[in-house]
Amino acid sequence: MNLYIVHKPGRMIAMITISPGHWREGSGAKDLIDEVVEARRVVARVVEILKIQGVSVTQVQDDESTSQLKNLSFLVRQHNKTRRKVDVSVHFNAIGGRIQQGIGTEVLFYDAVTLATAMSKAISHASGLKNRGAKQRKELTFLNATTMPAIMIELCFVNSVADVNCYKQHFEAICRAIATTLADFIG
Ligand SMILES: [Zn+2]
Repeated sequence: MNLYIVHKPGRMIAMITISPGHWREGSGAKDLIDEVVEARRVVARVVEILKIQGVSVTQVQDDESTSQLKNLSFLVRQHNKTRRKVDVSVHFNAIGGRIQQGIGTEVLFYDAVTLATAMSKAISHASGLKNRGAKQRKELTFLNATTMPAIMIELCFVNSVADVNCYKQHFEAICRAIATTLADFIG
């Protein structure tokens, strides 16, 4: 039995590694809101909630890269250095031009379809954002180069007035939904 080791204080293994996408303000999508600023806010709050719930979580943030290529390699390297069961990246989506109507939330995955589906549904339920569901994207570096099951949350569209209102109004509920879904996933 190695229960002794499992319960030994100070030996808690980090179960989730999470990072905001991109590397500095303005390096991601930008319209009604700045993707990077908001992704960092979401990650910070999700991490706080998980810690309150007693879940061990590692937060990665890139403040040093100067290009998307360097950023991706930084994030993959930092994520792969940590011990965890799941890798999570938080982004906001964009399409060309500002629109009034809602577009919604979606979660990209390499093979973690169950988690991605649950995450998209949970964010949609918590916020009223349209559920665009789980989408497989095997070509994305973050998803195919991190070594644990990985998801990329595309929380909402930065150029949709309805999406951004929804996000701002339900920020706390969205962060709680993300934290709860991750905690459920790692058991
Ligand atoms: Zn992004």
